[in-house]
Amino acid sequence: MSTVRCYDCGRSFAFPERKRCECGEPLWFDHGEVAWPDRRDPGMWRYADSLPAAAPAGVGAAAGGTPLVRAPRLDTGGVELYLKDEGQNPTGSFKDRGSALAVASARERGIDRVGTVSHGNMAMSTAACAAGAGLECTVCVPADIPEERLAHIARYGPEILRVEGEYGRLYERSLELEGVDFVNSDTPLRVAGQKTVAYEICEAFASDVPDAIVLPVSSGGQLSGIWKAILELRAAGLIDERPRLYASQASACDPIVRAFGADRREVSPIEGGETIAYSIANADPPSGNRALAALRDTDGGAVSVSDDAIRAAQRRLARKGGFRVEASSAVAYAGLERLLERGEIGAIRDVYKRQGSHSTR
Ligand SMILES: *Cc1c(COP(=O)(O)O)cnc(C)c1O
Ligand SMILES: [Zn+2]
Repeated sequence: MSTVRCYDCGRSFAFPERKRCECGEPLWFDHGEVAWPDRRDPGMWRYADSLPAAAPAGVGAAAGGTPLVRAPRLDTGGVELYLKDEGQNPTGSFKDRGSALAVASARERGIDRVGTVSHGNMAMSTAACAAGAGLECTVCVPADIPEERLAHIARYGPEILRVEGEYGRLYERSLELEGVDFVNSDTPLRVAGQKTVAYEICEAFASDVPDAIVLPVSSGGQLSGIWKAILELRAAGLIDERPRLYASQASACDPIVRAFGADRREVSPIEGGETIAYSIANADPPSGNRALAALRDTDGGAVSVSDDAIRAAQRRLARKGGFRVEASSAVAYAGLERLLERGEIGAIRDVYKRQGSHSTR
């Protein structure tokens, strides 16, 4: 499993030869046919046979395997809602799935330092997984990062580089640093780790699938991983249909929603504004085009939500579900509410759709 392929033009390369395809798009791992696993390893490592590395030492071994929680008081508009509680990962976000796999692979390849570009969850997660596996870690953060957030990252002992200028520049900067194996949001390893969340969701319902999955989107890496899993599971005949994928973004910084709404194939960088969902405010998403392809391919959609709507969603998640989530995570629920209002998701459309597909069978 050491070939990576371009989702767009299909070119393939030996891993880890290239950062990106010749066409400029990000790459993902080729794989054999996936199967539901028999193994009983903890968390995401149940799916180790479909991953390019085995579980690392330390906290990364505990990534994934999060609960899929039925929360009926949060049902709205006739939709039966489940929440995938990714906050139960070791450092509190889904990033641990990708970080754990990236660290495991680096160790297997004899690399001694990994790095990432982030001012939040990704930095904490990469640093924690590296610490557990005995790897050095370099984290590039914006120079103006709040001290409190920096302290959360520093806990795990990474080397911290403060970079002046725009956050988007951090990504380019990282590609220039020698001697560090950068595992940014669009790397094949991260996407492979993050596909396990969709394996878990689909396995819970198989061979049926949820009608729709709504998620908060920033770089588009997580959405790419989910799409990849769905493609693999469909190809293996393990699920009957593709769940529709919906990207939700804060309206202050929603380049993917804009591109989708304008029916474009490429995401153009925007001038992003301030939002309480700062951790998903990426004005120039590295996996943006791939995210668009995922939305189109699954017949899904994209929606943006205001900070007020995000706050209201955060409150409802706490008061009607008992979930305390950061603003970025509440963007998913706020997005669901908007999609219901617009009639893009809803019991009626889904029943109609199901009848439609029956009659054409
Ligand atoms: C990173 C992150 C996202 C966005 O994921 P991408 O892969 O960058 O699209 C959303 N929510 C939370 C809580 C995150 O940490
Ligand atoms: Zn390509």
